[in-house]
Amino acid sequence: MKSSNTVLGAFGTTVFEVMSRLANEHNSVNLGQGFPDGNGPDDVRAVAHEALNGPPNQYPPMMGVPELRDAVAAHYNHFYDLGVDGPSEVIVGSGATEVLAATLFGLLDPGDEVVLFEPLYDSYIPIVRRAGATEKLVRLEPPNWELPDNIEEAFSSRTKAVLINSPLNPAGKVFTRAELEIVAGLIKKYDAYAICDEVYEHICFADEGHIPLMSLPDMRERSIKIGSAGKTFSLTGWKVGYAAAVPDLLAPIAKAHQFLTFTTPPNLQRAVAYGLGKDDAYFRGLSSDMAAKRDRLRDGLEKIGFKTAECEGTYFLNADFRGLGFNGSDEEFCRHITIDAGVTAVPVSAFYMESGHRDGGHRDRGPAHFARFCFCKEDATLDEALSRLSKHFGS
Ligand code: PMP
Ligand code: GLN
Repeated sequence: MKSSNTVLGAFGTTVFEVMSRLANEHNSVNLGQGFPDGNGPDDVRAVAHEALNGPPNQYPPMMGVPELRDAVAAHYNHFYDLGVDGPSEVIVGSGATEVLAATLFGLLDPGDEVVLFEPLYDSYIPIVRRAGATEKLVRLEPPNWELPDNIEEAFSSRTKAVLINSPLNPAGKVFTRAELEIVAGLIKKYDAYAICDEVYEHICFADEGHIPLMSLPDMRERSIKIGSAGKTFSLTGWKVGYAAAVPDLLAPIAKAHQFLTFTTPPNLQRAVAYGLGKDDAYFRGLSSDMAAKRDRLRDGLEKIGFKTAECEGTYFLNADFRGLGFNGSDEEFCRHITIDAGVTAVPVSAFYMESGHRDGGHRDRGPAHFARFCFCKEDATLDEALSRLSKHFGS
């Protein structure tokens, strides 16, 4: 038999699936994969329910239902004053994952380079490579996730795009305005596009708040701003994503989208259109609820003996476990606490690429002593996880 695609064949099953399966097998409290405990806002689900029973339930327009395209534009204009036009500058896809894939497939040619920041979300590199392009990685390290001074070394005349995720999963880092200015300067200098994965835009605790890269001077026509209803409405299974970009930049994304999924369930699109118009209090409340949960988890983990990294956004807090006397790798640690303490986290090294061999032949796969804990859970779930860890580590 002939072999299947070698690019995708080189990747294993995602860490989220692996750790969630292990968590289920061991009946452990799953703070690994990022999904909320709850069932999302009742009113948003009610609109989806109504829309399911009312026509039309046939293929919606390829670019998204008009009310959602308008709602995305109005939302971005309200929060960030971006001047987006729904009918010509918004596309809807099946989750941010699909929109990201459509963007990369739509923009990249073999030989192109894409600058990305590690640690990074697992779907980026397989798609960059499947599009025939090459990744150029800029490494950020815990606990402070600072932008390195040598960032420009990742750029060249072949740089087609920078893929930037702020707030950044798994780091919990929010890029500051000063950092975004550096990135924007390089994007302009190398005549590249900015692919902005901003799915956690409303789960941001930084003093400056969330700043879309698209809002910086001269970045409007170079940027694609991507969002997800999964994160904004705590409905991760819905897989409704969207992007805004100027028409010339939206066109190649639409070309790829039409051959990937073509459309997204219309009732879910209509409910998301309703949701994006909710009062500011809803969106502020999402951030403040999540900030309180971060604090609860951070305080509990620190009491047990973990050292937590900086976290200003997303669902995730990273914790250094070396103070607990565990000497193995982060992968071993996460398996160990799942099986023996009944709590699951994911190893942070899974979000770094292996970049050759350093230090006398050791695999260099980024920091290997941090576990990522997800805090978008009921307080009782967080407390149970903390109590199990505390009992296990004897604190
Ligand atoms: N980007 C990042 C950084 C994410 O964390 C996620 C959610 N897991 C996605 C994209 C995908 O979002 P969606 O579920 O809408 O496909
Ligand atoms: N975004 C989620 C996380 O980082 C999960 C995504 C997935 O399961 N593919 O945990």
